[in-house]
Amino acid sequence: MRDFGPVALDFDTQSAIAEADRCLGCLKRPCVEACPLHSDIPSALSALAEGDVEQAGAIFRATNALPDICGYVCPHERLCEGACVLGRHGYPLAIGALERYATRHSPAPRLAPRRRSGKHILIAGAGPAGLAAASDLLAAGHQVTLIDAAPQPGGWLSSAIPTFKLPREVLNVHVDRLLRAGLRLKTGTCLGADLSLEEARQQADAVLICTGARVEAESLPGAGLAGVWQGARLLSAVLRADQDTVPQLGTRVIVLGGGGTAIDCARTAARLQAQSGQPVDVTLVYRRRAHEMPAPPRDRQAAEAEGVRFRFQAAPLALRPDPNGALQSIEFAETSPGAADESGRARPVPVPGSTFLLEADSAIVAFGWRPDPAVRRLDPALELDAAGYIRADADTGATSLPGVYAAGDAVRGPALVSQAVCDGMRAAAAISAYLRARS
Ligand SMILES: Cc1cc2nc3c(=O)[nH]c(=O)nc-3n(C[C@H](O)[C@H](O)[C@H](O)COP(=O)(O)OP(=O)(O)OC[C@H]3O[C@@H](n4cnc5c(N)ncnc54)[C@H](O)[C@@H]3O)c2cc1C
Repeated sequence: MRDFGPVALDFDTQSAIAEADRCLGCLKRPCVEACPLHSDIPSALSALAEGDVEQAGAIFRATNALPDICGYVCPHERLCEGACVLGRHGYPLAIGALERYATRHSPAPRLAPRRRSGKHILIAGAGPAGLAAASDLLAAGHQVTLIDAAPQPGGWLSSAIPTFKLPREVLNVHVDRLLRAGLRLKTGTCLGADLSLEEARQQADAVLICTGARVEAESLPGAGLAGVWQGARLLSAVLRADQDTVPQLGTRVIVLGGGGTAIDCARTAARLQAQSGQPVDVTLVYRRRAHEMPAPPRDRQAAEAEGVRFRFQAAPLALRPDPNGALQSIEFAETSPGAADESGRARPVPVPGSTFLLEADSAIVAFGWRPDPAVRRLDPALELDAAGYIRADADTGATSLPGVYAAGDAVRGPALVSQAVCDGMRAAAAISAYLRARS
């Protein structure tokens, strides 16, 4: 557990075929229903069971522009594997690992459209939604420009998701494939700052906004103290670090939050401590009960196995400084479950007189995300919902502005890679239909 190499275990050919052969080919296909992309899992596994890896890979690719990436990062136990009927009396099929196997052993064919449409689409945001849309729009023969405010493409896939969950070469293969198909990629280019939405609409026949939801949700008193990290910034600093710039977290690390980012931070902190020869002392503190954590159970189990401790039903109140202005401790109140909130989970209610302090060298705050307020300034006619996410048609991604589409977390709020891919592919299909209708 000292390094940042991938933890996912891969099948060899014989065991992949044997595992795929366990598929019952259920008539009701609950795994397909549970998959946000409705991948034809039974047909892919049937091909794999017969040793036809090419065909299995092609079936996964038919509905998913980034199937190998989903094979690594999807919370399968909540989706396809959670719905697998074999799981009722034993182990569900290892669908994620089989998807990884099939797609990694059958390279994606070159993107070579038969006809050029002469249309130009500008996509803002090169995360999974933007990459998936770019792939389908290039395949349809359009010219595609993909801009991203960050120095590298990938969205959270490159800037936060740790390499022990997703090896970077898997993402790089996709980006290279798009570039070889003629994608114009412009990193360091921000929609709304370097290019206005109006300019983008003038330059392109359609615009797709995939800018995510990437602003920290909220903070705590004391968040500016030395030793306090915002979750995604820590993950990003670790991904960029060389030997001299590895974040130093000290011996006692407390992670605040209960989502996937909090777990990724805790597992990253444990690796950093192990690498520097220290005992692992990382505690994740969550304000609700264990079963109410939004983080995938698989990731939580992995964190536990890697030495991360969990403390539930404690809500952080403030980050307290030492005399030098660095973090010394965190003040918490114990909570008890109250009435259900809008998420259906019991609201954590602070127990009167229950406050306590935990000493820490570092605190990592991972409370989630909200939309970038800059989206409001893109165009007053671009409709947003009450929370500030772009209002877009669920099937097409069409927004209130003609020829402007939106996809991924920028519309849904913080969600999943597979959902962003699904949105990007649907928007790509809708944009092609819109452009066909206009020509
Ligand atoms: C730490 C972490 C771990 C996660 N782990 C998982 C996981 O295991 N499984 C899973 O399914 N999901 C996971 N997620 C969620 C998943 O990564 C997101 O749902 C997904 O990346 C959303 O894709 P997107 O393309 O909509 O947005 P993003 O991935 O956020 O990409 C948006 C892109 O837009 C760019 N951008 C922003 N504003 C502008 C602008 N104005 N102009 C141009 N470019 C702009 C950004 O630089 C970024 O590259 C995780 C998220 C985090 C933060």
